[in-house]
Amino acid sequence: MQLIDTANTFDLVIIGGGVTGAGVFHEAVNMGLKAILLEAKDFSWGTSSRSSKMVHGGLRYLKEGKFLLTRSAVRERERLLKTYPGLVNPLNFLMPIYKDHGPSKSSMKIGLSIYSFLAGQKQHQSFTKNQTLEFIPQIRKDNLVSSVGFKDAQVDDARLVLRLINDGCLAGGVALNYTKVIGIERDKKGHVAAINALDTQTGHTAELKTKAVINATGAWAEQFHPSPEKRHHLRPLRGSHLIFPKSILPLDRVISFAHPNDLRPAFMFPWNGCNILGTTEVDHENNLDKEPFVTEDEASYLIDGLQFILPGLDITLKNCVASIAGIRPILSKKKKKASKESREHVVWEDKGLVTVTGGKLTTFRILALDALNAAKKYLPKHLETKHLKTKSGKKAPKPDMTPDMNPEMNLDFPNISENIRQRLYGRYGQMAGEILKNNDDKSFSPIANTSSLWVEISHAAQHENIHNLSDLMLRRVRIGLFLPHGGKAYLDKIEKICKPFLSWDQERWANEKTIYINLWQKYYSPPNGRK
Ligand SMILES: Cc1cc2nc3c(=O)[nH]c(=O)nc-3n(C[C@H](O)[C@H](O)[C@H](O)COP(=O)(O)OP(=O)(O)OC[C@H]3O[C@@H](n4cnc5c(N)ncnc54)[C@H](O)[C@@H]3O)c2cc1C
Repeated sequence: MQLIDTANTFDLVIIGGGVTGAGVFHEAVNMGLKAILLEAKDFSWGTSSRSSKMVHGGLRYLKEGKFLLTRSAVRERERLLKTYPGLVNPLNFLMPIYKDHGPSKSSMKIGLSIYSFLAGQKQHQSFTKNQTLEFIPQIRKDNLVSSVGFKDAQVDDARLVLRLINDGCLAGGVALNYTKVIGIERDKKGHVAAINALDTQTGHTAELKTKAVINATGAWAEQFHPSPEKRHHLRPLRGSHLIFPKSILPLDRVISFAHPNDLRPAFMFPWNGCNILGTTEVDHENNLDKEPFVTEDEASYLIDGLQFILPGLDITLKNCVASIAGIRPILSKKKKKASKESREHVVWEDKGLVTVTGGKLTTFRILALDALNAAKKYLPKHLETKHLKTKSGKKAPKPDMTPDMNPEMNLDFPNISENIRQRLYGRYGQMAGEILKNNDDKSFSPIANTSSLWVEISHAAQHENIHNLSDLMLRRVRIGLFLPHGGKAYLDKIEKICKPFLSWDQERWANEKTIYINLWQKYYSPPNGRK
């Protein structure tokens, strides 16, 4: 659907198609609101496709005494694991303990006991030095004492955004990508009356009438509403990751360690058939509207960490297949050390414009409920808003539909493995039944050595608002991040699969491929190989 095809009056307009906006949209539609979400670029193009993909309580926040933040995040983790199996999956962490480096065994034990307590069950255990070496023989042995293991969870961040948006659209909401909000209009008393939007693909503009706007634009939030507190502004902090093929080290858990240069938490984790190494925290000075990218300095910092913790592997940037950087929406009071800045979210309300920013991917629903709560007085009165009374997760929010409430989950597909079924239901919700019914067994084969399936390419082309090849390669089916050269070798096959659904002629396909490969080379390739 395009901007000019939409109705022009809405109960609520949501600006920003990252996880926060998608969470607000999903809740709003389920409350019965006539809601529209507008995203300037592609859904999840901002930070929400560039995170470390962890659904976690944030063990490090305990050290800073942020018990409430950790508690609500741990609760959200448990809720997300139940609601979206196959999309949000349990993930084991291993943290080696050294005599001369990083946190001590006793401090880790205290932290993890509190973490388990907040989760309501024991989720950690200690391992001897020998057990640690059995798990990861290449781990640094000098002064290794033992290790601790604990459980958190992992998600495909961009797919979580898409799942929330797709479910919201199936329930009657409207979501448009490549539609930028260019202005907010107010009446004589200063109340929000309408927004102006620009379809960036066609150049069309439209005015949408509304009394309530939720500004969920993350690091961009101050474009619509400057922070009401003096000297309390968004500080864009870049975080970067390097991506390696799984063949360098077949990891089945996260290795979490203190970086040797500055003792910041660092990690390498398995994801979708590759290993990801992260992350950095540096001030982002570049234009926020341009794709962020990993600098060579960040890359060498990350490689230093990897060589320290896995000295036996001799990994260098030459082994890296891709890189990705994202911008944390951090509210900074007085430019503290980057890692000490608060991860908590804020909600500002101004006569119908509610701004919500900060926070984490894990706690998106808490941000959504807090924002809707602040917008309540501008929304129609008859709505089911009881559960909005909860603030910051103090009471358990109304649950989403869990898979066992979905009868389609029980359909029998004898040739499809349980893993694939779960993956499809987690990512595509109600649409998974259609995917399973309408495709032959061959379509369910994986793309190269990744966990992505060929069937996901045709599904995305058919149903998921693809405007550019990069939408497909980087955010719907994320093979541009784990295949060599951004998956260049597969582009002809992808063209063949997508052709019936995308109505791009020969020339458009040729252009899309060139634009995508140039974009990948400039912003997502290993930082030492850029042209
Ligand atoms: C390196 C890194 C690692 C992280 N790891 C984790 C993790 O492991 N776990 C976790 O829980 N959290 C993590 N986070 C934090 C988490 O990713 C963010 O808090 C979250 O993604 C922010 O989502 P958002 O929707 O608020 O912002 P975004 O995802 O940035 O979305 C905002 C959107 O608004 C759009 N927009 C801007 N202006 C306009 C306009 N005028 N009109 C329409 N749209 C507009 C942008 O294009 C953008 O897509 C990480 C963050 C970073 C940077």
